[in-house]
Amino acid sequence: MDLVNAACRFVSQAVLPPLCIVCGDGGDGFVPGIDICGACVADLPLNGPACSLCAMPLPSTSLVSPICGQCLKKRPKYQASFCAYRYGYPIDHLLRAFKFHGRLAYGRVLGELLSIALSSARRETWPKILVPVPLARNDRAEALGSAWPG
Ligand SMILES: [Zn+2]
Ligand SMILES: [Zn+2]
Repeated sequence: MDLVNAACRFVSQAVLPPLCIVCGDGGDGFVPGIDICGACVADLPLNGPACSLCAMPLPSTSLVSPICGQCLKKRPKYQASFCAYRYGYPIDHLLRAFKFHGRLAYGRVLGELLSIALSSARRETWPKILVPVPLARNDRAEALGSAWPG
């Protein structure tokens, strides 16, 4: 099956070579299966260092599990959170295009980037579950049933 997948990937890249969804360039340096070039991946606004509890960005620190002032004042009820990227270009552009302009392919790229970032994160920040949260409050109530505070 790996040979079939590799052959399909080869033909797919020969017929439809990848184009970066950020800069529009093609060519080499793409992570397989992700339509974003290596140069643009290297420029993504990584969220580090960040609070180990709420994932808010922090100034540089040498602590392994830094905690922000807000979480020191009032400890959240959860034990950890993870945010791969800060909300800056091009992440903000990709998210808005995905959520508001029907660019569904961007969701796949964002999901793959999150997966790659999580695989290199501290294991205690790995989620036990992923919960998709619809954008609109009414849709959330419908999707999550009466458990969602309206
Ligand atoms: Zn690019
Ligand atoms: Zn915090």
